[in-house]
Amino acid sequence: MTPPAQTLADRIEALLPQTQCTKCGFHGCRPYAEAMARGEAACNRCPPGGAEGIRRLSALLGTAALPLDTNCGNEQPRAVARIDESLCIGCTLCTQACPVDAIAGAPKQMHTVLPDWCTGCDLCVAPCPVDCIDMVPVTGDATGWAAWSQPLADASKARYQSRNARLVREREENDARLAAKAAAKLEALQAESTQSDAEQAAQERKRAIIAAAIERARQKQQAARPRNTENVSPAVQAQIDAAEARRAKAGKIGTSTACEPPDTGNAAPPSSDHKPEQA
Ligand code: SF4
Ligand code: SF4
Ligand code: SF4
Repeated sequence: MTPPAQTLADRIEALLPQTQCTKCGFHGCRPYAEAMARGEAACNRCPPGGAEGIRRLSALLGTAALPLDTNCGNEQPRAVARIDESLCIGCTLCTQACPVDAIAGAPKQMHTVLPDWCTGCDLCVAPCPVDCIDMVPVTGDATGWAAWSQPLADASKARYQSRNARLVREREENDARLAAKAAAKLEALQAESTQSDAEQAAQERKRAIIAAAIERARQKQQAARPRNTENVSPAVQAQIDAAEARRAKAGKIGTSTACEPPDTGNAAPPSSDHKPEQA
């Protein structure tokens, strides 16, 4: 099978160090690559790639090799994060910040950096509330690509993508749990008997809140589904219908929904990218 053609953004991204440090001013290497491909960003904004990285990018793009834009940072030896474990309070803020899952630890327990996975992005340093993370240079005088390598970049990209996939999966699972909880709450509410007008009004208010939350979740889930399904041929429409039927059979329609917590006094907490609701 012929491999899919690479876009310009793909080829640019392949030249970036994949530390995901955001020093270029973009939320990771891929968005920066896309901005360069659109001609909206210069190719001298990546300190981890340094002068060699700029040379590679400008050769691909056919532009002049500008000096590094030091507003984004300086080219310097690569560092690895080190946690002073005697000070760590186990708050997990560093693990939430690390783009490549290079920090091991659990809530209220000591955390430690996996040095072979650490890209030196330093994104874990600022969130630490007890300032117990130091960045320790590990490459002597070597900087930029001389302090990094393509296998390391490839491994970092794989870990970054794996982490993102896990976060999406956790968020979807959490959303599904919240949706199921809201549906169960609505059912229980409808089964409650009411005596006075005041009780009836209170029940109706709660029911409306929960129903609105469920409807918002349904609309959110609907918006997340593929939209390029208009004006398709009958054959493609049949394929879409078959896929929808399989999704429904697998329980992926109407259950895997995002749901904000109903405001009924004892609602579940909101979902989050980093901290799914605990069962
Ligand atoms: S490694 Fe370079 S391109 Fe990637 S996020 Fe950091 S500065 Fe941006
Ligand atoms: S441990 Fe810190 S410096 Fe190392 S990759 Fe993770 S966030 Fe970046
Ligand atoms: S942010 Fe600091 S205190 Fe919190 S777990 Fe990480 S190293 Fe420990």
